[in-house]
Amino acid sequence: MKNIMFIAPPAAGKGTQAELVTKKYNIPHISTGDILREISKEDSEIGSYVYETLASGKLVKDEITYKLIEERLNKEDCKNGYIIDGFPRNLDQAIEYDKILANLGYEIGNVIYLEISEKTLEKRITGRRLCEDCHAIYNINDENSSPKVESVCDKCGGKLYQRNDDNLEAFQTRYKMYLEKTAPIIEHYKKQNVLHVINGEDTVENIFNAVDEIISNN
Ligand code: AMP
Repeated sequence: MKNIMFIAPPAAGKGTQAELVTKKYNIPHISTGDILREISKEDSEIGSYVYETLASGKLVKDEITYKLIEERLNKEDCKNGYIIDGFPRNLDQAIEYDKILANLGYEIGNVIYLEISEKTLEKRITGRRLCEDCHAIYNINDENSSPKVESVCDKCGGKLYQRNDDNLEAFQTRYKMYLEKTAPIIEHYKKQNVLHVINGEDTVENIFNAVDEIISNN
């Protein structure tokens, strides 16, 4: 199966869609945000640098992301396709990613852009909750995505938490970063004829149906 890349502003639902694709097609979900959140827990110089950067809503240094992406894509489980979410985040990273793929003999695959308004994102960001154990994603502002029991993961019983960058102040920085740095990569993939645009305002189910159609037809 072809690789899949999700591009979207913060809290647009790319993590949720990536999890659904993983479940149906059994391919790994590589989220640079998830990997960096793990690194941010380390009691080391890099751990505290990543912790501070994530909390501020700014982007971590490109070199750090290149290293972790290369290491992850070199693993055996990526050979039959993978989902990449959160990388590339700027044009330099997109150009570097093209090189990494060429070295591995991999193709970009399908690039899926979730289009969504800033207003909807603000509503979603304050309600997002994640499972500490299995990383499942919920939204307490949306009755269809709320956990059955408050603060408890439906899937594994783990404790739910709120990301420390899921507040309106950090969101403003993250959204600004997205518009300035990430949005320009959409053009990069349009030129390569691999871009698909989906309406991110729709329900989780309808968005997944559209994603699934892209996977099936390409
Ligand atoms: P996400 O989970 O994708 O929203 O990412 C959370 C945070 O991790 C971002 O706000 C950035 O600080 C950092 N991050 C994730 N991916 C990247 C990347 N490709 N380049 C730089 N920083 C990143």
